[in-house]
Amino acid sequence: MTLPTPKFDTGDNVFWATTTSDKKMVPCPDCNDTKKWLATSPNGTECECECPRCCDSYYNRRNDLTIYSYAPDVQSFIVGAVRIDTSGIYEDAVTYMNSPSGSGIVYGESRCFTTPEEALFCATLLAAERTENTPRCKASAEHVRKFAPYKFTDAKIEEAEKARRGMGVRISMLVDEFRDTLEFATDLSSLKDDLGRVIERWEES
Ligand SMILES: [Zn+2]
Repeated sequence: MTLPTPKFDTGDNVFWATTTSDKKMVPCPDCNDTKKWLATSPNGTECECECPRCCDSYYNRRNDLTIYSYAPDVQSFIVGAVRIDTSGIYEDAVTYMNSPSGSGIVYGESRCFTTPEEALFCATLLAAERTENTPRCKASAEHVRKFAPYKFTDAKIEEAEKARRGMGVRISMLVDEFRDTLEFATDLSSLKDDLGRVIERWEES
C-alpha cells in the first residue's frame, strides 16, 4: 500500500483556510439607521429613545434585518505533528496538528497552504459554499427579504413578534442550528468549536 506523501513537515508554517459565522444587518427602515426615535408622551414631553426595531431591547426586531452567513478566515500554525490515516474516517488522509503531542485542533491537508493568499482563496470559496448550503443562512436571507421592508407598526411585524416570543420557537431554531452545524462538520475539533459558538449565540439572543 502506498501511503500519501504529506505536503508539509514538522516546523513548517502553514496557512489554514476556514470560516467564521458572520451576520450583517441591512439598514433599519424605521430609524433610517440613526438608532433613535423621537417620542412624545401624552402630556407633550418630548424625548429621544432607542429605536425598538434595531437596538438592543427585549422587543427588538433585529432578526428581520439580520442576514447570517459565513465569512472566510485564515489561521496560521506551525506543524507540530503529522498524521496519516487511511481509514477514511477523516476527510483528509493527511492531517496536521500544531502540538508535537498530536492533541488540539486537527487541520485537514486539503485546506492547508503555503501562503495566506492561497488559503484566503480557498476560504472564500468555502464560505460561499457554507452560506449557500446552510439552511439558517438561506432562511435569514429569505426572512429579511420578506420582513425588512415592513415598518415597525405593520401588522405582519406584530404577528411575527408574537411567534418569536414563544420559547418553543427559540428551541426549534437551536435544534436547526445544531443540525446545520453537524451537517457541515468536517472534523471533531471544528465541530466542537462550531457547537460552542452556536450555544454562545443562543445564550446572547
Ligand atoms: Zn432602527
